[in-house]
Amino acid sequence: MAFSPDFYKKHFPVFDANPGWIYLDHAATTQKPQLVIDRIRDFYAKEYATVHRGIYKQAAAATSAYESVRDKVAEFLHAASREEIIFTKGATESINLISRGFLAQRLKEGDEILISAMEHHANLIPWQQLCLEKKAILRVIPLNSKGELDLERYWDLLTPRTKMIAFVHVSNTLGTINPVKRLVTLARSKQIPVLIDGSQAVAHEMVNLEELNPDFYVFSAHKIFGPSGVGVAYIKREQQEEMKPLMWGGDMIKSVTFEETIPADGPSRFEAGTPNMAGVIGLGAAIDYINSLDRIEIKVYLKELARYVYDMLKDIKGIRIMGNATERSPIFSFSFEDIHPHDMATFLDSRNIAIRAGHHCTQPLMDHYQVGATARASFSFINNKSEVGKLVSSLEEMIQFFA
Ligand SMILES: *Cc1c(COP(=O)(O)O)cnc(C)c1O
Repeated sequence: MAFSPDFYKKHFPVFDANPGWIYLDHAATTQKPQLVIDRIRDFYAKEYATVHRGIYKQAAAATSAYESVRDKVAEFLHAASREEIIFTKGATESINLISRGFLAQRLKEGDEILISAMEHHANLIPWQQLCLEKKAILRVIPLNSKGELDLERYWDLLTPRTKMIAFVHVSNTLGTINPVKRLVTLARSKQIPVLIDGSQAVAHEMVNLEELNPDFYVFSAHKIFGPSGVGVAYIKREQQEEMKPLMWGGDMIKSVTFEETIPADGPSRFEAGTPNMAGVIGLGAAIDYINSLDRIEIKVYLKELARYVYDMLKDIKGIRIMGNATERSPIFSFSFEDIHPHDMATFLDSRNIAIRAGHHCTQPLMDHYQVGATARASFSFINNKSEVGKLVSSLEEMIQFFA
């Protein structure tokens, strides 16, 4: 049987509430399948209790529901151990935790941090601010004309001063899938710690951390059909040992006196305070949902869809598409000379099509392409080719409208 996006779309009740809605903003956030919504509702309606502290059976059950998600995430990412999975508020908090908790104590004046030209602000500003504080230098891997990382320059930029490398797995603006395995291998050969921002990749790629072997990998649940306000920091055991928590408080200690605190070992050291219990449990349901799908079939479909969208968009008169990577996800940024992206998004909304307009939290990348903003259409496996057709015909109408 051919792959059927429409079959999967039925799992998402938001499309019953908004008939005919063409949702092309998956890179910003994803909609939620019924299974995730039900799991969160059941937790609140039938199972709600605090985790880690209660003795009563409801609290014990909540704890095991919460902690079982740690196993699920570890398995999902092929991490070596559940202890390497830390729950955060999202990718942004995860990167801040690593920049503050790990790198801040190591970084010295004149040291360098290497990021790429296509980073989301979440994987740029925390490093930039740390550099400013420590008088360190932020270096940037440039792009080639196709919106791919320039690997030769990457090699040159790795120096004895490089203390950290952080790059995105799949670009949220260009759709480029970076050759993360090669990037990590080169970094490893020089013993430089590596962080991968997997925010987009987790929805599209089958991530295998055993194979990739980075020190850090981060993502947000809301980009993979889970709830907002929860995310993951995968942190290798050996790196956790020397890390400081970002926050101090309850639920993360071995012992406390008025004079000193000894933080707990393992992930709870980085999870001070009552966690986002429903969020984590919802993330577990989102992973169950993804695991229930044929991931290979989906990957093949997304690749085919990316080619299809590009071929359809490229023939529209006056369009400029940012990036055309050989390995890409179906995420497209584009612009027209005389039509502001916000006007484009407004026009498409009048046709019941949701896209994003703006800089997509990648302002330096916009500068690289010398645009202030772009329109971005980002697809998932619930989008079919007739939706691509409607996007294209609506863009053509729009060009007439603004002519
Ligand atoms: C969305 C996104 C982030 C930030 O995620 P938050 O959920 O806002 O913390 C970081 N990097 C990339 C590539 C993203 O797409």
